[in-house]
Formats: sequence, structure tokens, C-alpha cells
Amino acid sequence: MRMLDIILKKRNGGELTSDEIDFFVREYVAGRIPDYQASALLMAIYFQGMTSRETADLTLAMAYSGETVDLSPVPGIKVDKHSTGGVGDTTTLIVAPLVAACGVPVAKMSGRGLGHTGGTIDKLESIPGFNPFQSIRDFIRIVKEVGVAVVGQTESLVPADKKLYALRDVTGTVEHKSLIASSVMSKKIAAGADAIVLDVKAGSGAFMRSVEDAFELAQEMVNVGVYVGRRVAAIVSDMSQPLGMAIGNALEVREAIEVLRGERSEALKEVSLLLGAYMLYVAGRCQTVEQGLEMVEEALASGRGAQKLKEMISAQGGDERVVDDTSLLPVADEVISIRAQRDGYISGMDAYSIGQAARLLGAGRNTKEDAIDHGVGIVLHKRVGDKVEKGEMLAEFYVNREDALQEAIDTFNKGVIIGEQPPQHKPLVYGVVTHEGIERW
Ligand code: URA
Ligand code: CA
Repeated sequence: MRMLDIILKKRNGGELTSDEIDFFVREYVAGRIPDYQASALLMAIYFQGMTSRETADLTLAMAYSGETVDLSPVPGIKVDKHSTGGVGDTTTLIVAPLVAACGVPVAKMSGRGLGHTGGTIDKLESIPGFNPFQSIRDFIRIVKEVGVAVVGQTESLVPADKKLYALRDVTGTVEHKSLIASSVMSKKIAAGADAIVLDVKAGSGAFMRSVEDAFELAQEMVNVGVYVGRRVAAIVSDMSQPLGMAIGNALEVREAIEVLRGERSEALKEVSLLLGAYMLYVAGRCQTVEQGLEMVEEALASGRGAQKLKEMISAQGGDERVVDDTSLLPVADEVISIRAQRDGYISGMDAYSIGQAARLLGAGRNTKEDAIDHGVGIVLHKRVGDKVEKGEMLAEFYVNREDALQEAIDTFNKGVIIGEQPPQHKPLVYGVVTHEGIERW
């Protein structure tokens, strides 16, 4: 088999065989295919696409390119969740303990922030002492003992995605549905869970800006799940404005804890509960999604979810007292109010701009090596649809450094649109894709 023939076949619109896909992944990971040929194939895939069968074969070849996690020592159906990336999207910290409190083991591997989006691992590291980097043995042990662990992906898992993702990032081939689906699903399959719930984001803050594209991505990922015999459900949810009111690592942990303590009831809580209900459903813990919703609501109201978060934090070396006392989390020195420049209705709170503004304050990275500042970020006081008066507070900026402050304020203000009329209502969740098909809400 020759790589050049594989490139030519895809360039001309052909369908690659399983053997050709396996060859490419195996030889590329082994360093026997140069980056320029891999890049050419990725670009050919970008323009010619792949069938669902090719996407599933690529996913499997990637998933088994390195070590995989065997969760069979943990009894029962293990469930995982994944969000395709967003701003103020802290659902994992809420939903993982809630689902575990309902008796379904949650085994989750998470990533760091990417671009303007936040990452669960960075957020968890803002909890004093918390160690997201556990060995695979300890990961399995904690899931078994506590019912939930959220850890960083180990180096030995899915080396094919590490190499391909880095290459895609610099060759203009990130935003393709088959490539995103294989990247995400290969990591989920390697991490070992039996059932997976995906939160596919649509809107300015997401990889998929249009709702149609988000449904197609969701469908691709569900297809892969069906192909490999894992139960997968994907909700498609809005990421045109940040999901939570906090953007920034410790600030988001604080908000998640407040949701778990029953002190907040906004979009973040709503999406978290829905994801939890689907996790219980795909794990076979309930007959209907409605029943699942009642179960996670009960786990929240009774405080069992908050208790489970404490157990998880403690098992991973962190200070569990943060759940009762969020003042133990790092916080920036200075808080600056950002005020409305006119009267009207908020018609846009662009998730991308707000994510960028938080990154400029130090909540995210500009290069891979940058350290992030856990205490900084933005707390919103308004959402799309709210009425505002000139001078009223729109947001608070938590600041440690002044150097990029003005740029952050300008970036934020550009993203906040105040109009004369109340905007049209946008749904928070557009629908769900399961093995049974697409359901639009
Ligand atoms: N997240 C991933 O893990 N992979 C992609 O390709 C895009 C987002
Ligand atoms: Ca994420």
C-alpha cells in the first residue's frame, strides 16, 4: 500500500477502505508517513468528505492507536459526557456528581481550554490541591470507590489524535464534521465508557456556527457510536451567548457549586440537568428522559450531588471545603464594573467575543505554554433579552493585570449589542440526536 495512492483516491472523490484508513493511521503514528502527505490527505478529506463508514473506521483506527482504558473492574454501565466546547460551559462539574449520585458511574476524561473556549481541566485546577492527572489505575479506582472521576487525558491515549489534531490546527482542516467526529469519538471510545452523552454547541462561540451544521456533526458522532456498539445521545444546544454567567476558571467553579447547592436556576442549570437526564437514560438507569430529569432534580435538591462533588474533589487530592465555602477559591485582586452605554434591550452577548475578553484578562492561553490565571474572568449580570438602562451594570471583570484590560473591555463591548426592541427568543436546546433519529424541539 502506498500513501500517494490513498491521497489520489480521496482527492478524486473515492471511498477509502478500512485497510487503507488503518494503514494511514498506523503508519502516520509510527512516523513513517511525513506530515506533508498526511496534510494532503486531510485537505482532500476536507473537500471530498467521508462516508459514515469511513468516519467510523477512522475513529476506530485512531481510538486503538495507543493505550485504552478497560473500565470492566467497575460494575455497571459507565457513562461519559463531552461538550464540543463553549464559553461559560461548566456543565461537567454539575452533572458528573449528580449522575454519580443517582448510582451511575461517571468516568470522564477532559481537556484544557482551546482558543476562546474553556476547558474542564483548567477549571478543576483552580480548586486548591486538586490533581486532574491520575494514572489509569487510580482513575479506575476512584470511579469504583467514589462513583465519579474527572481526569486529564493521559499521554498514552489516542496518540493518533494528538498528532492529527496538531496538524489540522495548522493546515486549515479543523472544521470538518468527519474529522471533528473522529477526533472526539476516538477519545471517548479509548476512555472506556459504555454510554456517552454529547453536548454539541451551535452559535458564535462554537466550532459549528449554524444549527444545521451542529445537527450534522451530532448525527456523525451518533453514527460512530452505533457502529461501535456504544449508546450515544447528542443534544444540540445554543452557544451564541455564554451558557453560564461566569467565564473564567475559579469563577466557573464557584458558579457550578452554587448550582449544585440549589442557589441558582439559569441556563447552565437547565442544560446540566438535561444532560444528566440523558446520561441516566443512555445508561439504562431510567425508562424515559423525563424520569431521568426527576432523578437528577432530586439529587440536586437533596444535596446528594454537592456531597458527591466533595467526595470526588477529596479523592483527587483537592480541598473539599470549597463546596461549602467558595471563598477558598482563588480570586482576582480587583473587580471592575462594566456598564451599559445606552438604554434598551440586550439583543446579543456574543460568546466568541466574551470568551476572547476573558482570555485577554488571563483566563485562557495565547500559546500552548502560557500559564493561566485561575482567579480572573468575567461575571455577567445580564443575558440576551434583558432590559437595561444606561449606566446599569452589564458585567464585572475580575482583574489581576492591567496590560490587556482596555483591549478586553473593548472586545467585550463589541460583543454586547443593545437594541431598541426585545430580541426574538432563541431556544436553549434545539433538539437531540439518538440512535432512533433526530428529534427537533
Ligand atoms: N475537539 C476535539 O477534541 N477535536 C476536534 O476536532 C474539535 C474539537
Ligand atoms: Ca469542554
